[in-house]
Amino acid sequence: VSSVEATSAHLDRIAAVDGDVNAFLHVSDHALEVARSIDDRRAAGEELGPLAGVPLAIKDVLVTTDMPSTSGSRILEGYMSPYDATVVARSRAAGLVPLGKTNMDEFAMGSSTEHSAFGPTRNPWDLSRIPGGSGGGSAAAVAAFEAPLALGSDTGGSIRQPAHVTGTVGVKPTYGAVSRYGSIALASSLDQVGPVSRTVLDAGLLQDIVQGHDRFDSTSLTTQWPSMAEAAREGARGDVLDGLRVGIVRQLGGEGFQAGVRQRFTETVEMLQAAGAEVVEVDAPHFEYAVAAYYLILPAEASSNLAKFDSVRFGLRVEPAGATSEQMMSATREAGFGPEVKRRIILGTYALSSGYYAAYYGSAQKVRTLIQRDFSAAFAQVDVLVSPTAPTTAFPLGERVNDPLAMYLNDVTTIPANLAGIPGISVPIGLAPEDSLPVGLQIMAPAYRDDRLYRVGAAVEA
Ligand code: GLN
Repeated sequence: VSSVEATSAHLDRIAAVDGDVNAFLHVSDHALEVARSIDDRRAAGEELGPLAGVPLAIKDVLVTTDMPSTSGSRILEGYMSPYDATVVARSRAAGLVPLGKTNMDEFAMGSSTEHSAFGPTRNPWDLSRIPGGSGGGSAAAVAAFEAPLALGSDTGGSIRQPAHVTGTVGVKPTYGAVSRYGSIALASSLDQVGPVSRTVLDAGLLQDIVQGHDRFDSTSLTTQWPSMAEAAREGARGDVLDGLRVGIVRQLGGEGFQAGVRQRFTETVEMLQAAGAEVVEVDAPHFEYAVAAYYLILPAEASSNLAKFDSVRFGLRVEPAGATSEQMMSATREAGFGPEVKRRIILGTYALSSGYYAAYYGSAQKVRTLIQRDFSAAFAQVDVLVSPTAPTTAFPLGERVNDPLAMYLNDVTTIPANLAGIPGISVPIGLAPEDSLPVGLQIMAPAYRDDRLYRVGAAVEA
């Protein structure tokens, strides 16, 4: 198929289903033009890469010069960036065709996409359920065949958890593997950009394009990365599971996990054993404090990152008659931020305030170190760690939106990887028998070993 054919098929699909799904905040009005130029270049004999001409959905946290970038917030409604995020620039250079910008929880705060200022996205498997969050738009777009591939960001699970509830593949690379330049910052020490797709190989092809050093991101690693697509191909070919040492994290399962999620997970572990993997249980004693530590560190960093939305530099300005500049900022932030964002700014400002800093932020950072040590101890025994990607399948819209704690606890499985900076993938492993909704397997590897996720993920998928 030509890029024009592929792109118009996806635009048609968006026109047909996105009224229900609401995965897109903005659909590009020149995607076909871009597709045509790729087809022309190919016709002229130019050697193009493996994803040239393939349509791509882009989470609205990533800034783009040709489409608005809102991060799901009223405060940035209609905002046009003067530059492209590095991952967007690299995708364009590789010939991918940006289709549009996808819905998300406001500033990527949430696990259901219900905190978007522009209405929730619905799960294509069951429109009365959440598509996960914060990257529910990207995952739903891929699951609903509105896009074959998407980019997301994962600060505490926002690529992996939506993949789990929509039956798609989502990868959070090693911290620093993919540039954060032009990813509107939530928590800078946790944020990582990565791919969303329907197969492990597709995710690998996209990671190959976006990974690698970027001088515009001071935490970008200078590592020479192997091809993730090649790792996925090796995994799909064969015997990578034979002799693989797999650790089941005792703390990421059991009580509180839905029966059907546990069942699919157990069956997958049995499949791994049957294929020759050595499976052991490993202990990560400090993981029980991960959610608490994350929900101090994240708001602390977010409160600082969001201070720049001051009504002067970006986006919305609410200026009551006769207001001082301080009143203008306060009126703008009051009108422009939703309740979850305000909650986290207040939490973060409190955690960082003098007199409380050591007790809250300082303690959370110590827990973070202990979690990193738990991972180091575990990876001294095994090659990869596995768990269900989330405790339950897609929950009903509205169920947790007014219960922040219930929403936060959903992240128990994904948060440890962000706190430690290690890579994680979610791969579909079937449907839970009780509700026929998708379940994902999370695979985690040591930092820098993203290739292991692709190798093992493709083997599990096959
Ligand atoms: N659900 C988590 C949160 O609300 C994760 C967010 C993310 O990864 N961007 O913070």
